[in-house]
Amino acid sequence: MTGRNRIHITRTQVEGIAIVHLEVPLTRHDDARELREKAFFAPASSRYKIYIIDEAHMVSPAGFNALLKVVEEPPEHLKFIFATTEPEKVIGTIRSRTHHYPFRLVPPGTLREYLGDVCGREGIPVEDGVLLIIPMSATRFRIIADLGLSAGGAPTDPTLDQVQAIIDRRGPGGMTTSNPIWLSAFRINERKVSDYRAGRVFVVGDAAHVHSPAGGQGMNTGMQDAFNLAWKLALVCRGDAKEALLDSFSVERSAVGEEVLKAAGRLTMVATMRNRTAQTVRNLLGRLLLGLAPVRKAMVNTMSEVSVGYDHSPLNGPGLHRGDIPAPGRRLEPTAGQTPVGSKTAPRFALFAARNDKVSALAMRFPNLIDAEIRTPLDPDVILLVRPDGYVSCTAKSDDLVVVANYLDAIDAAKAVAA
Ligand SMILES: Cc1cc2nc3c(=O)[nH]c(=O)nc-3n(C[C@H](O)[C@H](O)[C@H](O)COP(=O)(O)OP(=O)(O)OC[C@H]3O[C@@H](n4cnc5c(N)ncnc54)[C@H](O)[C@@H]3O)c2cc1C
Repeated sequence: MTGRNRIHITRTQVEGIAIVHLEVPLTRHDDARELREKAFFAPASSRYKIYIIDEAHMVSPAGFNALLKVVEEPPEHLKFIFATTEPEKVIGTIRSRTHHYPFRLVPPGTLREYLGDVCGREGIPVEDGVLLIIPMSATRFRIIADLGLSAGGAPTDPTLDQVQAIIDRRGPGGMTTSNPIWLSAFRINERKVSDYRAGRVFVVGDAAHVHSPAGGQGMNTGMQDAFNLAWKLALVCRGDAKEALLDSFSVERSAVGEEVLKAAGRLTMVATMRNRTAQTVRNLLGRLLLGLAPVRKAMVNTMSEVSVGYDHSPLNGPGLHRGDIPAPGRRLEPTAGQTPVGSKTAPRFALFAARNDKVSALAMRFPNLIDAEIRTPLDPDVILLVRPDGYVSCTAKSDDLVVVANYLDAIDAAKAVAA
């Protein structure tokens, strides 16, 4: 370090080379002259003396001019390295006397992969984790990162700086966050009640099942719980259906909750795995599979839960076992342009059948259960009874109306009173 404290010098000895690293540039002619005089002395124990002048664009023209001669005709032991991000600010006379090696920035992703490989080979554990960047609109993103296993207790909400630090570490680089509308820490719990009903108490949503947000199914599952329960409650409370109808709620929705918990757990495990080889396989497979349209469609159907079915529901009646007709417990896809089943003010089953007197008589026999609007059947030879939530109750041949009548008799509250 010089007496004037303007030139900070670090000396290093690397295999016979004395390296002098100038961290603060030479802004005055005198600084440069002093350096030039010292540079002429050969190092005592090294073969070379290398001056690395960092931020070289800050060296004043006077400083460069003082160095010009020694840069042009250096003694044998002397080397100069000028490091700068703005080479155009270095005066022409110096530039014409030096070699130029432009370095491009290595993208952080490439650097991270490379460092990961090196650390893997050297057996050095590296802390790394998930960073999800999800576009919510043209100008807003949801950012989710995992911080490893929770030590218990409620975690404190992160600051924007902490979020930015994680993005810098794990992200592709060049991303700046600002103006957050929600900074929140959460722990992943994985729990489910065994029974969604206890007497007059029903549980839906997170009260019944909590799991990782991976897959984004929590809210969706909760709403479908409510959807499943609402029509049953309405029919029972109105005195149109027997109370036993409510027993199907827990059986149907608990089975779905079980599956959602397993799927979210699997997704979380895959997303947060730490093993580098497993991560590489995951990334490759993920890219490959998500490029396939059928895989994407299956994922959308699973996550939106339109593929959910109640195959083992006590509410399922007889079925025709035909591949082209949805089985009892399966969802009947809504037909474009048709009023969706169950969307009227009172919940009613929908009858899909060829219109005739017998079908009209059947509908009139159960006015509080069957919607008066008879719908066009998928096949004129088939009659389909669909629940108010869009799932098939039973299917039969068009002349086998007794199947539907028996099914509704078992639910009908009026039948219970009469019996
Ligand atoms: C980070 C994160 C991201 C998520 N992303 C998605 C997603 O993309 N898609 C998705 O489908 N789901 C997502 N979820 C899950 C979703 O947020 C929940 O499944 C959903 O909000 C649950 O709704 P709920 O009404 O059942 O329960 P809650 O939203 O928890 O509502 C329960 C309400 O009851 C109140 N309450 C509690 N106790 C009492 C009491 N004793 N008296 C009165 N009130 C009380 C609470 O204050 C709360 O307002 C995410 C969850 C998290 C944590």
